[in-house]
Amino acid sequence: MATDKKLTVLWDIDGTLMLTGGAGIHALRVTVQRLFGVTEYPELEYHGRTDFAIVQDLFARLDLPFDRHFHDFRRHYHVQLAESLRTNRGSLLPGVPELLQEMRGDARFSLGLLTGNSREAAGLKLAAYDVAHYFDYGGYGDHHLRRDDVARDARQAALASLGPDFQPEQVVVIGDTPADISCARAIGARVVAVATGSTPLQDLKVHRPDFAVGTLRELDLSRLL
Ligand SMILES: [Mg+2]
Repeated sequence: MATDKKLTVLWDIDGTLMLTGGAGIHALRVTVQRLFGVTEYPELEYHGRTDFAIVQDLFARLDLPFDRHFHDFRRHYHVQLAESLRTNRGSLLPGVPELLQEMRGDARFSLGLLTGNSREAAGLKLAAYDVAHYFDYGGYGDHHLRRDDVARDARQAALASLGPDFQPEQVVVIGDTPADISCARAIGARVVAVATGSTPLQDLKVHRPDFAVGTLRELDLSRLL
């Protein structure tokens, strides 16, 4: 028998659930240095973007043929990321452990991921901070350039996981960048914007999220339901 319909909560990782002490960027730097001898690492934009888009950008800046090196690069990057997550310590963000616990203990919530990280990178980051068990499904940044497409994957994964319990109009995205807000809109979801990542609260508010908070300690769950 189907249980009550659920509120599907799709979480971003970096800047929302956690800060990793720059482990992802560290792993990219070390990987291009080891594989290609690159010592002058270019300035790139990371926030709210998919791993696929970032690596494509990185290769273009370094004049490396994408198709030839991408798979090998990814493999090495994931090995290095596991190492960088051990050396560059970060933390879960304020309010996150309590909120995850509260949602997990309440049958009205279903938790998934909506992240620009590749599936493997997401798994490594969640495992490093011991929160992997909270999430049942997700959309990832392995193959998409645009975050809106990751949001569509996450929505599809929620539907596949929840079946008849999935309620399309009851989806909330939690994220820390304007890209999180716009991808939530792309799937008709509400959005909680949190200023624990790269974007100040005032700048997030310009994009008119449904809720904007300084940290997730301020989020009142009863307002989401
Ligand atoms: Mg983020």
